[in-house]
Amino acid sequence: MAKAVCVNCGHPKRKPYARCDSCALDPTKHDEALVRSVYLSIGRFADPQKAERYARDLDDIGAAIRRGETVEYDLHELERLRLQQRMVGSATRRRLCGVLVRFFLPGLVFVLGLWALFYVLSWLLA
Ligand SMILES: [Zn+2]
Repeated sequence: MAKAVCVNCGHPKRKPYARCDSCALDPTKHDEALVRSVYLSIGRFADPQKAERYARDLDDIGAAIRRGETVEYDLHELERLRLQQRMVGSATRRRLCGVLVRFFLPGLVFVLGLWALFYVLSWLLA
């Protein structure tokens, strides 16, 4: 069972963003090809059972592409994947650091406050 299928030639691949061994299409060089590559992969399913089912469909879809047939894409799903691609593309290292700091800063301030309280109390009671 294929985990991904080339959008250009229907050749099975392991990862949707991988370069095709058969036709050399590199989906990372074209936004729309990458979105359609993710569409034609089990990677778009969070549910393992749905991914397993779609892996069986992918073999048929790959065979259809190799016969020259066109793939019927669900437009809502394509739009969801485009939105996801834009969100991933907008995630920079700086933004990620900002999110991590906002997440861990309250806990760090709390621990420092406890340490300061312990230090002051031990100084007063000594
Ligand atoms: Zn290909």
